[in-house]
Order: sequence, then structure tokens, then C-alpha cells
Amino acid sequence: MGIKISIVKNFSSAHFLIGHEKCGRIHGHNWKVKVEVEGELEEHGWVIDFTLLKNIADELLNKFDHKMLLPDSINYDDDRKNLNFTANSKKYSFPKEDCVIVPIGNVTCENMSYFLHKELWEILKKFKNIHGLEIKVNERDEQGAAFKNP
Ligand SMILES: [Zn+2]
Repeated sequence: MGIKISIVKNFSSAHFLIGHEKCGRIHGHNWKVKVEVEGELEEHGWVIDFTLLKNIADELLNKFDHKMLLPDSINYDDDRKNLNFTANSKKYSFPKEDCVIVPIGNVTCENMSYFLHKELWEILKKFKNIHGLEIKVNERDEQGAAFKNP
């Protein structure tokens, strides 16, 4: 028997999509990330301490907060202070300190849910009573994507 628990975290960041006319323009989202953990109860009567789970999620998600999210599929010209690149036939230059290059091909809800799942599962799989994780990433209330295991 497994029990599912969940927390919801938010972060705000800008992005654009490669290969899409409207979404290829820089815009922002208040991303909502639902972290759902499935497992057996341990001796305290919980799957994982909510505070601990929130701290684990915060440590990962805070890196993206108030940043420009960029995919690693772009060829960046790194001049120390700025990232210069061309995407969607447009030339960009951003201060490096304002950016996070995410190891995904395009910054979509789908790819973010997969990436965040991979990062969080590396930590959560160490808890012997935890056997499943679902990460749901919403860019708006009415649209999002989820990745889960098993
Ligand atoms: Zn968007």
C-alpha cells in the first residue's frame, strides 16, 4: 500500500521557445510545480516530512526564480559577463548572472517536468520507503505537463 503526498511550489522566470512564432518571443510565467511523492509510511506516520520535502524542492527551484531560462541546445558565445546567441533568427545578449542554462532542448513544461523529476528523484530515491515521484509543471493554471515514475 502506498500513500501519496504532495506539495506545490512556485517560481517566476522568463523564457522563449525555439521554433515557435508567438512563444518564440520572450515572456514570463509564474510556474507552478506540484511534487507528488508516493511511498510507505515510516515510523513517524508520514511518507516524508513536509518541511524536508519543501526544502529539497526549494533548493532546486530557487535556482530558476527570477531568471532567464535557456535551453542547452543553443550555441552560446560566452564573453565572461554575457551570453550572446542567436535563436529564432534573433540576436540576444543577456547578463550571465541573470540566466540559467537548463540541460533540455527547449524550455517547455514537458521538458521541465522531466528534468525536475530527474533531479528530485536522485535525492528522493535514497529514502527506502519512497517508491514513486510525479512532477507536474504548470506554466498557467490551465496548462501543464507531468512526468512520473514508476
Ligand atoms: Zn511560455
